[in-house]
Amino acid sequence: MIERMTRVTNNQKAQGRRTVTVLGSTGSIGLSTVDVLLRERDAYDIMALTAHSRVDALIEQALHVRPRRAVIGDERHYGRLREGLAGSGIEAAAGSDAVVEAACMDAEWVMAAIVGATALRPVMAAVQRGCTLALANKETLVCAGHLILEAARRHGTTIIPVDSEHSAIFQVFEQEHIDSIDKIILTASGGPFWNCRQAELVRVTPRQALAHPNWDMGAKISIDSATMMNKGLEFIEACQLFPVAQSQIEVVIHPQSIVHSGVCYKDGSFLAQMGVPDMRTPISYALGWPRRMDSPVKTLDLTDITTLTFHKTDDSKFPSLALARQCQQQGGSAPIILNAANEVAVEAFLQERIGFCDIFAVVEETLADSTSNKPTTLEDVFACDEKARQDARAWVTHKNTHMRASVVGG
Ligand code: NAD
Ligand code: MG
Repeated sequence: MIERMTRVTNNQKAQGRRTVTVLGSTGSIGLSTVDVLLRERDAYDIMALTAHSRVDALIEQALHVRPRRAVIGDERHYGRLREGLAGSGIEAAAGSDAVVEAACMDAEWVMAAIVGATALRPVMAAVQRGCTLALANKETLVCAGHLILEAARRHGTTIIPVDSEHSAIFQVFEQEHIDSIDKIILTASGGPFWNCRQAELVRVTPRQALAHPNWDMGAKISIDSATMMNKGLEFIEACQLFPVAQSQIEVVIHPQSIVHSGVCYKDGSFLAQMGVPDMRTPISYALGWPRRMDSPVKTLDLTDITTLTFHKTDDSKFPSLALARQCQQQGGSAPIILNAANEVAVEAFLQERIGFCDIFAVVEETLADSTSNKPTTLEDVFACDEKARQDARAWVTHKNTHMRASVVGG
C-alpha cells in the first residue's frame, strides 16, 4: 500500500540539481523519461543509464545525456559500448550484476523502466538504499509486491507509480478518507481487438497485435494490452498499491484512453484523472512529485472530444483478467506463475511459435499444473518464476508442435 508521503525528500528541499538514474533507458518509457529530463537539463544530473541489448542506442543516448555510467545488460556488447564511449569520460559496464550496481549508485530518483520480472533485482536494490522510485515496471509488483513494499517501508523509499492508471488513481486517492471510498475504476483501452469476434482473434498476427490504437509502447506490454493481460497485471498492481479490497476494483473498457482511471467515493463523486494518452504526463508527475512540473504533453482540449465511451469487459473472449483476479485471490506464488507463463507465451507469440489465443492457453495450463506456495524471500520468487517458465516453455513446445502439424496437414 502506498502511504502518501508528506515528507519531502532531501533533494527536493535542497532545490538543487537532482541526481537521476534510468533503468531501461532505451525502451519506450526510458526514452520518454530522458525526453522529459532533457527539457529541464539544468535541474538534473544523470547518474546512470542502463539498457539490455540496444548498444548503439545506448551509446548515442549516453553521449547526448552524459551520465556518469552507461550499462549494457548483455555482456556481449561490452566491447562495442567501451569503444563507443572511449574518451567521453563516461564509465562503461556490462552484465546483469552491473545493472544492479547501477541501481545501487547514489541517485535520488530512479526510474524503473526495465520490462519484465528481470527488473526485480535492480528494483529491489534501488528500494533498499532509500530513494524516490518511479515505478513503471509492473511485473515486479505482481511477482514480489509484498517484499518490495515492505523493503520500501523499511528503507524509507517512496514509490510513485508511473503506470498511467495507477498514477491517475494515486492523484485522486484520498488516503485520509479511505472509509469513504466505494471503488476504484481501472480503465482499459481494450487494445486493438476488444471489439473483434472470437474467430478473428485466433488469426491475429504479432504485427497486428503490436499496433496499439492509442499508446506507443514496448513490444511486451503492447501484446499484453491486446490480450488484456496488461489489465490483469495492473489489477494485481492496484491491489498491491492501494488499500482497498479486491472486490472494490472494477475494470471498465474505455477505448479513447482519456480517462486514465479514478476513484468513486461513497458520496457519489467520481474523481478521475484525464489527459491525452502520453506517458510523459505520469513520468513528469513522478519526477516532480510532490510538486507538479511542466511537461511537453499538450493539454486536453475538451471541445476536441466528441465521444467518451465505457464498456464492460468480456472474460469469455479475454480470460486474462479473470485469471489475474483468481491468482490475486489465491495469493502465494500464483501471481508469479501467471506472470512468468505470460512472459514466456508472449515471447513465443512474437516469435510466431504459437498463435494469439495460445497465449491464454499457455498461461491457463501452466497455472493449472502448478502448486502455489508462499514466497518469503526474493530467492523463493526467483525459484518459482524459473519453475513456471520451464513449465510454460513445455506448453509452448506442445502448442507449437500442434500448430506445425496442422500447417503440414493443411
Ligand atoms: P520496452 O521494451 O520498450 O523497453 C524495455 C527496457 O528494458 C529497454 O531499455 C531494455 O533495454 C530493458 N531491458 C530489457 N530486458 C532487460 C534485461 N534482461 N536486463 C536489463 N534491461 C533490460 O518496454 P516499455 O514499454 O518501456 O516498458 C517498460 C516497463 O514499463 C514494462 O514493465 C511495462 O509494463 C511498463 N509500462 C510501460 C508503459 C508504456 O507506455 N510503454 C506504460 C505503463 C507501464
Ligand atoms: Mg497502464
